[in-house]
Amino acid sequence: AKAIILNHRPIGMATLEDFKIIDFELEKPKDGELKLKTIYISVDPYLRGRMNLAKSYIPPFELGKPIESGMIAQVEESLNEEYKQGDYVTGILPWQEHIISDGKGLMKIDPDLAPLSAYLGVLGLTGITAYLGLLEIGKPKEGETLLVSGAAGAVGSIVGQIGKIKGCHVVGIAGSDEKVLMLEERFGYDKVINYKTSKDLSQEIGKYCSNGVDVYFDNVGGVISDAALDHINKFARISLCGNISLYNEKELPTGPRIQIKLLKKSALMQGFIVFDFKNKYSEAIEELSKWLKNGDLVYEETIVNGFENTPEAFIGLFEGKNKGKMLVKV
Ligand code: NDP
Repeated sequence: AKAIILNHRPIGMATLEDFKIIDFELEKPKDGELKLKTIYISVDPYLRGRMNLAKSYIPPFELGKPIESGMIAQVEESLNEEYKQGDYVTGILPWQEHIISDGKGLMKIDPDLAPLSAYLGVLGLTGITAYLGLLEIGKPKEGETLLVSGAAGAVGSIVGQIGKIKGCHVVGIAGSDEKVLMLEERFGYDKVINYKTSKDLSQEIGKYCSNGVDVYFDNVGGVISDAALDHINKFARISLCGNISLYNEKELPTGPRIQIKLLKKSALMQGFIVFDFKNKYSEAIEELSKWLKNGDLVYEETIVNGFENTPEAFIGLFEGKNKGKMLVKV
């Protein structure tokens, strides 16, 4: 079977040479084990952090071993009484076309309830992150202004819609005119700013968030957040979900600039890691499914075809190549 291993730890932006496709002998499943066939692979910005040899909330990938991420697979053979041939499962799995698993950490999914890919997106960790990161930390109230960075990505495209459901004025920041159009026309964003063509981002945020920003949902960090924080209101809440603009930095820029902006507004900034809210996953999935069903929530996917193109899809996240959730179909 084929696997994609971490060949080098990337320095700065990852390159195709940092990955390697290998052929290996897949063992036969033993008692209690399953043989899985991979269907979809989720590529996610946080995987970049796991490619560094640094301590974080999840351990780094090992050199020479397959990368792992959220995946959808089908059971081809089962010696585990909880699963039968043909079942669909999701879980954090190695980048391999076929996998032997002991079943731990897997969850069965129902292809009749939602398309399989949705379990890696809107009904998976992406949707849960959007829901809990916004509601648990941002606590948006009706009539408030929500600003979302990384608005056209997997998480951001869901966050804005939940903001609308909660009655907010929702403004987004994204990296192309096509993304701006998608968010304004299909995702209900009131206004979206293209940060790549904006002459003065801070001034534009001020213009479209004319009552100031009450909740800032941050997917990107860096200079975009510097501009966003110029406009926070008193007692604003800032949900720190991601820092994609900094994941490839060799040294993190530091300085007291952000703290000053928060202090002046008695604002609250809180880090968010979805894995710390496991007790709320079922609530999130229930609400997201309800909104999907009644049409309050729509989603977008960018699907790259071919197992061997997984590294390219991953690198594409840092080049803004995706609208909504980036996935690989094997
Ligand atoms: P996305 O689908 O948003 O993909 C990444 C997007 O980020 C790209 O499409 C690109 O869009 C944008 N981007 C890339 N580089 C930059 C840059 N230098 N500056 C600004 N924008 C950039 O990914 P996800 O929705 O999966 O994740 C969004 C964020 O949320 C990430 O930071 C991720 O790490 C974080 N996350 C955090 C979780 C948690 O538990 N805390 C869980 C899941 C995700 P554009 O064209 O607009 O530039």
